Amino acid sequence: MPQIKHIALLGATGSIGDSTLKVIRQHPDKFRIAGVAIGSKIDLLLPILKEFDIPFAVVFDPKAAEALSKQWSGKVLAGMDGLMELVADPSVDYVLNGLVGSIGCRPTLEAIRLGKTVGLANKESMVMAGDLINAALRRHPEAGLIPIDSEHSAIFQCLAGRPVHEVDFIQLTASGGPFRERPKNTFEAITKADALKHPTWVMGAKITIDSATLMNKGLEVIEAHQLFGIGFDQIKVVVHPSSIVHSLVQFRDGSLMAQLGCPDMCVPIQYALSWPERLQLETPRLDLATVGKLEFFPPDFEKFPCLRLAFEAGRRGGTAPAVLNAANEAVVDLFLNDRIPFHKIPALLENVLGRAAITELHSIEEAVAADAWARREVVESLAS
Ligand code: MG
Repeated sequence: MPQIKHIALLGATGSIGDSTLKVIRQHPDKFRIAGVAIGSKIDLLLPILKEFDIPFAVVFDPKAAEALSKQWSGKVLAGMDGLMELVADPSVDYVLNGLVGSIGCRPTLEAIRLGKTVGLANKESMVMAGDLINAALRRHPEAGLIPIDSEHSAIFQCLAGRPVHEVDFIQLTASGGPFRERPKNTFEAITKADALKHPTWVMGAKITIDSATLMNKGLEVIEAHQLFGIGFDQIKVVVHPSSIVHSLVQFRDGSLMAQLGCPDMCVPIQYALSWPERLQLETPRLDLATVGKLEFFPPDFEKFPCLRLAFEAGRRGGTAPAVLNAANEAVVDLFLNDRIPFHKIPALLENVLGRAAITELHSIEEAVAADAWARREVVESLAS
């Protein structure tokens, strides 16, 4: 009998959730969905609940949760309490965290404290509270944390369990976003539609804007530091527009290991679910002769100050990454609501980071407080 994983899928109606469902459809004998969590899109959720015969749903928005409970007979909970109850439910042994934003942090930490395995697509968890999550992993060696972000899955695969002292540096690839070749002096004219056009990956709005500012790569640098225990001086970013090489590890013996593939999130999601096993997956195969050439460029820290800000916040440590992450969420939200232009994003973030009283991080409450402070500060800095 194959061992079945009972999964809590957080973010079931988002882009990661969608890819996860594609993977689970291919392996109904290996993976079962014990429960799902979503923000508010219950119309998208209902067919999923039916198709996968799911008994438990958390809808973050309480009104939408109430609406769902009138249309569906399964267990429905709302809010952060609902998320925590789903993660803790005895029917769940694996938490796939595809939530967007800092809201995903507590469920990650809770799952690890309960000795469960987390497949982590919510990079904000490690950015906001990586120190706390790593401490919890040391206390609960039976728990697991497997990266899903394509770059971090690539590094995880290239490292293949080797200790970090064998590593010279890791290299995160970045598509460069839609403005890689656009002159900086035209950034003032960037529209929302321009910024929402990602060259290679199809993703949610928030992460697509983060890819355009390169903040996504910045957050991934901090995430990589926390996931692999590698210092910021040993983390490099290289621009690789076709997103075929997903990231690389330079070992001390001169070997440079890379993981390649067509950009499809089903690959890292399935690997996080099946690790250390590799299962069959119906997904496009890469034909190198058709690809022809692979291009790489150094990142432009001048044109994309968000990448520099993330390195700075990461090196400062403590609550600085939580502040940067929350300020970024608030600023991107303002941009998506047409309240600020694209080119103002980095300056607003630098401003908030500069005013923050950074402290060491001892508890999730401190991370949440730093997060809330940064969001308020963004609103106030805009009013002044
Ligand atoms: Mg990524």
